[in-house]
Amino acid sequence: MPFELQPETLLSDNLARCSRCGLCLPTCPTFKLSGSEMESPRGRIQLMQAVKTGAVSAAAAAPALDSCLRCRACEPACPTGVIVVDALADHFAAADTGSRSSLNEFLATWRARLKHGLALLRRSGGGRS
Ligand code: SF4
Ligand code: SF4
Repeated sequence: MPFELQPETLLSDNLARCSRCGLCLPTCPTFKLSGSEMESPRGRIQLMQAVKTGAVSAAAAAPALDSCLRCRACEPACPTGVIVVDALADHFAAADTGSRSSLNEFLATWRARLKHGLALLRRSGGGRS
């Protein structure tokens, strides 16, 4: 059977490669729009690390991770080859079992996502009648 890297291994690899240099920040459309570090490639990597260590709950991290457009604009700027979209896919694959095991965590995640979506809508002017 060929050796296959598991999502957790791939996630750790991507997270560990981030040197926090910040070169990716100007390339990220969600960072440009929000001005929030948490909605930058570097911020998302740090958030995934924080979820992994238990410092931040998956629910609290979900909105900023969900708002990534998966556009890959940050990839060419990264000197260490961090692939944010792969890290996100692995993060959600790894977190999936855990979030399904707890109804409260699942509901909290979706509440946070909804709240963040409404805030983005308001910020873009889409919520005005
Ligand atoms: S893939 Fe996500 S983190 Fe990277 S530039 Fe696009 S929106 Fe930003
Ligand atoms: S450019 Fe790469 S190494 Fe630098 S902060 Fe962004 S993701 Fe991390």
